[in-house]
Amino acid sequence: MTNNFSFSPVALPYAQDALAPVISAETIAFHYGKHLQAYINNLNAALPGSGFEGLSLEDIVRKAEGGIFNNAGQVLNHTLYFTQFKPAGDVSAPEGALADAIARDFGSFEEFKAEFQKKGAGLFGSGWVWLAADTDGKLHITQESNAGNPVSRGLTPLLTFDVWEHAYYLDYQNRRPDHLAALWQIIDWHVISARYGR
Ligand code: MN
Repeated sequence: MTNNFSFSPVALPYAQDALAPVISAETIAFHYGKHLQAYINNLNAALPGSGFEGLSLEDIVRKAEGGIFNNAGQVLNHTLYFTQFKPAGDVSAPEGALADAIARDFGSFEEFKAEFQKKGAGLFGSGWVWLAADTDGKLHITQESNAGNPVSRGLTPLLTFDVWEHAYYLDYQNRRPDHLAALWQIIDWHVISARYGR
């Protein structure tokens, strides 16, 4: 069944093997091809008659509860996640206003990365660590359980590390901190700086 309000997976802006060895093609095949697709299928199946048809993902996440919240949250989270990467080896660093805000709010880029990794490694169970901006442009690192997204706190999400085991287990098994430390090699800071948009 199709309807006018169904969601689709975001297109990957790189080849499925372009993030290796930080994220393998096999992990992309499962994470993007199976896990994200399942969240999309579940959300699309739940939308008809829910009252949330036609809303943006962000608005569904802000307003819904239960299964619709969980699946819409995971679709939004993975959309932001999979579009923030670039092939390993390309040089990338925070730009412009975002670079200034990181220095202002965390002391330095290195101090920000250390704090972000620590909050990702220390998040119990499944969830996401986020860099997000408030309406004044101040930066915050938040830990969200399960399908959580900082839009629920009135923040604009900028960067995220997925700490669900499905994001890293094929490549790193239980070594979540090693996976998080490696992710910096593939962050496209041009994308993150544009999301900050100041
Ligand atoms: Mn995931």
